[in-house]
Amino acid sequence: MMASSTRQLLLIVCFQLIIAADSWIIEDISTKSRLNRPNVVLGRSLSSERSTPYYEERNDLKYTMSGIALPQVAGHRERQTQIHGIPVENQEKHDRRAKINSRRIEKRGRPAAKHTRPAEKHSRPTEKHSRPAEKHSRPAERHSRPTERHSSSSADSKKSSVVNYADKECVVQKVFPVNSGIPCNLTTTQTPMFVYFSFDDAITPWNIRFYRQLFSDEHRNPDGCPIRATFFNSHHNTQYGLLQELWQLKHEVASHSISHRGPSTWWSINATQQDWYDEIVGQRDNIHRQTAAAAGSRGGIPIAEIQGMRAPFLALGGDLQFGMLERNGFLYDSSIPNNNNHPSWPFTLHEPSAMNGPICRSPYCPVEPHNVWEVVMNVYFMNESGSVTPCSMIDGCRPRNGRLGALRFLRANFQRHYDDKVPFGINMHAAWFAFEGYLDAMNSFIGEMLERNDVYIVPIRKLIEWIKHPLTISKMNEIRFSC
Ligand SMILES: [Zn+2]
Repeated sequence: MMASSTRQLLLIVCFQLIIAADSWIIEDISTKSRLNRPNVVLGRSLSSERSTPYYEERNDLKYTMSGIALPQVAGHRERQTQIHGIPVENQEKHDRRAKINSRRIEKRGRPAAKHTRPAEKHSRPTEKHSRPAEKHSRPAERHSRPTERHSSSSADSKKSSVVNYADKECVVQKVFPVNSGIPCNLTTTQTPMFVYFSFDDAITPWNIRFYRQLFSDEHRNPDGCPIRATFFNSHHNTQYGLLQELWQLKHEVASHSISHRGPSTWWSINATQQDWYDEIVGQRDNIHRQTAAAAGSRGGIPIAEIQGMRAPFLALGGDLQFGMLERNGFLYDSSIPNNNNHPSWPFTLHEPSAMNGPICRSPYCPVEPHNVWEVVMNVYFMNESGSVTPCSMIDGCRPRNGRLGALRFLRANFQRHYDDKVPFGINMHAAWFAFEGYLDAMNSFIGEMLERNDVYIVPIRKLIEWIKHPLTISKMNEIRFSC
């Protein structure tokens, strides 16, 4: 009798201790949430040992065991047993393929990496290798999309449509394969020269001053509209009021993950389909919610306006990444460097085998067809001091001689694209502007390009819109295409 009462007493004490510890942890997290960032908490919570995704829901937050707290959004309440309707075997396929590809690479030996990417460093095997041409039956199960689809995204089911441009008809393929060249057989003189700027990572008071200066209304496209850029945004350090300001000025905002976590290999090797979803779709939702909170009555950036992504460190996640984009209504990815001397137009990923090898040289390139555009990152070549080392992002190249060297570098790479009117992407981080003379060089370079009267500096989604529905320069000016 006595022993039984002692056991009961001990049980009650233990139970109370557990409750006290749990509420302390929750309280700690909630306090951090209120103090630091509404709705999103970074930092380890509860336990970080479990490798499988696991959610602990409380109010409008959900905590993952990877240590990242993701915003809870409407329709984002799937149970762990159903990972967004995606068959679990996708993950197994990814792991199998990665193993096969890694073995192939080891067998052939890794050639010395030619490319330096100081800003987005990650190990990327550069050897060519053929990928299996296996066709996979696509999962029959279509799951409910957590967010609305945009009409111009991968929802296009028709293979082609007829549009009018200039004086003749043009059949525009919704499927735009690799090496298509200028669409609709437009001549190079009829074709505008597209230039797009893309900036990665957080928007902060430090870097927005560069963007305000470069994209002031002084610089205008030939159709009279101001030039605009694309911002691949990641959460950490972002001031969402500033991001909202950029969007209101008609810049494009795209997803670059919530955590931007390292090491870079995590994205290719360890990230599950759930991780890709949480990070990329999660940041899309997060941008919407946080800009809405920052903007008040002006409203946040609509989810349907966030149509693109770039992988952190340009570390590809194979079909897990691209399948996630397709299923969640994204229009495009821009994470694949094209190391060729010949720059490439963006293309659709309906036949990835055409790009795997010639363009995509990672073991984690997509293999299955995806109804998503790839805006490849054509590399830059240094033309100074005989160096031919290319870089995937502008800030991977550091020309000598300050302003003059930077101008020469930009002009030479522009010209490589301009000869065939291949769109010229200026993919970079704002840190490049910290070097003496580089910001001034970029400002002058923009002015020079626009003096040509056939150069249009537009966000990436605007470029894709044009490829789908090409217009001659005169037609573009008539309808003020880039406004
Ligand atoms: Zn980044």
